[in-house]
Amino acid sequence: MIGSGVIGLGVAWELARMGLRVTVLERDRRCGEGTSSAAAGMLAASVEAAAPGPFFELCRTSSGLWESWAGSLEEESGVDCEYDRCGLLRVTCSADLLPALEARRDWQLSEGIAVSETLSGPRLHEEVPGLSSEVVAGLLYPMEGQVHSHRVLEALEVACRRAGVRIETGFDVATLDLDGGGAGVVAADNRRLQADCLVLAAGPWSGRWLSELGVLVAVEPVRGQIAAVDQPLVSMRRIVFGDHGYVLQKRSGLTLVGATEEMVGFAGWPTLAAFNQLARVAGELVPSVAFAPYSHTWAGLRPYARGGPLLGRTPVSARVLLATAHHRNGILLAPVTAQLIARAVVEGADPDALLPFSPGRVA
Ligand SMILES: Cc1cc2nc3c(=O)[nH]c(=O)nc-3n(C[C@H](O)[C@H](O)[C@H](O)COP(=O)(O)OP(=O)(O)OC[C@H]3O[C@@H](n4cnc5c(N)ncnc54)[C@H](O)[C@@H]3O)c2cc1C
Repeated sequence: MIGSGVIGLGVAWELARMGLRVTVLERDRRCGEGTSSAAAGMLAASVEAAAPGPFFELCRTSSGLWESWAGSLEEESGVDCEYDRCGLLRVTCSADLLPALEARRDWQLSEGIAVSETLSGPRLHEEVPGLSSEVVAGLLYPMEGQVHSHRVLEALEVACRRAGVRIETGFDVATLDLDGGGAGVVAADNRRLQADCLVLAAGPWSGRWLSELGVLVAVEPVRGQIAAVDQPLVSMRRIVFGDHGYVLQKRSGLTLVGATEEMVGFAGWPTLAAFNQLARVAGELVPSVAFAPYSHTWAGLRPYARGGPLLGRTPVSARVLLATAHHRNGILLAPVTAQLIARAVVEGADPDALLPFSPGRVA
């Protein structure tokens, strides 16, 4: 396994639970310090999938798996992932944008998604104390929720180690060694490892190996930034998701305002420009958050590929699989990715649910 983000550790844990010997290679000194540690932790299939289809199904399946996945993780690691079906309020400040939200609700209802009628006035403001008066309407998705991404990473690392996964940090994979149909890697310091099967879960850095694996779809970084405030004046149970961003509160009261989407290559640092933008999002959705004591800002690079995640065997080698390009939804999609990729490894063939996300698809 290359990569110790939520995807790499998730797949490693599943494989170890199925009885396989697994090694995770991570170039950083510590696990889980890539994109996964930057995530807000929303489990929000209803606002992320724009239309019915395979991506929506993947999101929905994973959303349904989260409760038991979090339960097993907590049991095996002793770490509380702060899993919470807190509900999400999708709001708009523009009456012109409401028809699009309602059209989405129509197909979601026909797919069996739990969603309220259109809320406005006092009924809307009851859901979130302190909601801005600029918000004109909203839809409540009571089954959407969140986890704490740092806690999930911590739980996965402990669970992996307890299940016998070997985690090698400081192992920077420089090249793949596929000679003679093998599945090996060579580190920057020339250490070599061979395996029966190699899973690439290197997040936004996965792109470097794709052409030699016959994959025609590129993986590109999309920067996202979040600002956090402490001791906000309101206690918010629901996630508030607006037209330009979202506000959500962690159990500790830390309140996150996110997130930008910027194509700036591997420039993974936070910027003042984004800080301004996030302050406007807070003002538009829950104004008091913009006046709470500022805590800190961070940035992460989402792994994006046209057409959605890249999951399964690569065209050049059946012994090398991809588990990457989860873009905005790697936390949400971790359980389903872990289970399907683990099955693909153990069964020697990609499960049907992975076929729409095949690394062999045309760009
Ligand atoms: C601001 C922001 C908010 C987000 N919010 C949410 C959210 O609310 N909900 C949600 O579901 N998703 C969210 N996401 C998306 C989510 O964080 C990502 O989709 C997910 O973390 C990707 O996980 P990963 O394991 O693929 O990548 P990473 O977590 O980046 O893990 C990849 C690992 O591979 C390692 N690596 C890279 N190259 C090498 C190499 N050569 N050798 C060895 N190791 C290597 C890296 O060091 C890294 O540790 C958000 C992302 C951002 C940036």
